[in-house]
Amino acid sequence: MKTVLITGASKGIGQQIAKQFAQKGYNVAINYNKSENQAKSLYNEITSLNTNAILVKADIKNLNEVQNMINEIISCFGHIDVLVNNAGISYKGLFIDENDKITKEIIDTNLLGAIYTSKYVLPYMLKNGTGKIINISSIWGNVGASLESTYSASKAGIIGLTKSLAKEYGYNNICVNCICPGLIDTDMNKNLSKTEIEEIIKQIPAKRIGKTEDISNLVLFLAECTGDYITGQVITVDGGFTL
Ligand code: NAP
Repeated sequence: MKTVLITGASKGIGQQIAKQFAQKGYNVAINYNKSENQAKSLYNEITSLNTNAILVKADIKNLNEVQNMINEIISCFGHIDVLVNNAGISYKGLFIDENDKITKEIIDTNLLGAIYTSKYVLPYMLKNGTGKIINISSIWGNVGASLESTYSASKAGIIGLTKSLAKEYGYNNICVNCICPGLIDTDMNKNLSKTEIEEIIKQIPAKRIGKTEDISNLVLFLAECTGDYITGQVITVDGGFTL
C-alpha cells in the first residue's frame, strides 16, 4: 500500500486531493495547521472508506514540526511514496505597503515549507528507490500578479525548486512536477465578490472558474505509474486564463 503526504489537506484543493488518494487505496497522511475540525472530519470520512489515514498537525514553516510530522508518518506506515506540497497562503495588497511579518509568512509557508518537507521526505524516497513529489504553485508564479508580488515570488520559487529537484533526483527514479492552478473555487478566493468573479470569468476561455477536482485529477495522474516519464514539468490548469 502506497503512502501519500498532503500538506494543507484540511481545506480546499488539498482536501480534494486527499479524498481522491483515499479512493485509490493509498495510506493518507492528512497535514493541517489551524483547521482542526475540518481535518478531523476529513479523517473520519476517509477512514470510513476502510482506507488507512493519519492526522498530522504541523505548521510547515516550522522545521521541528515538519521533522516530527515526517517521523510520525514513517513510524505509522514505514514509507512515504508521494508528497504533495499543497499548503499555502495568499495576500493581496500593494507591495510597498505589505507588512514585513506578512511578507515573511508568505515566503516561509509557500516556499520554505515545501523546501522543508521535500528535504526531509526525500531520504525515505531514496531509500525506497522511487518517489513522486508534486508541488502546487500558481499561474502567478509563471506570469506574475500585480498586488500579489510576494505570493508570485514564492510560487515562482516553487517552480525553480521543482526543476532543480527533478534534475538532482531524476537519476534515483524520483519524479518532481509542479502544477500551476488558475482561479479555483476555494476559501482562498472567498474575498472576491460575485461581480469580481464574473469579470474574471470573462477572461477565461473555459468560461468558468476551476474546481478542486481540476487540480486533484492531475495530481493523481502524476502520482501514478502513468506519469513515470514526466518530470521537472510545470503544468498550468487554468481553463486558458493565462494564454
Ligand atoms: P485554502 O482553501 O485556503 O487551503 C489552504 C490550506 O493550506 C489549508 O488546508 C491550510 O491548513 C494550509 N496551510 C496554510 N498554512 C499552513 C501552514 N503554515 N502549515 C500547514 N498547512 C498550512 O487554499 P487552496 O485554494 O486550497 O490552496 C491550496 C494551494 O493551491 C495553495 O498553495 C495555493 O497557493 C494554491 N493555489 C490556489 C489557487 C486558488 O485559486 N484557490 C490558485 C493557485 C494556486 P489550515 O487551515 O489547517 O491551517
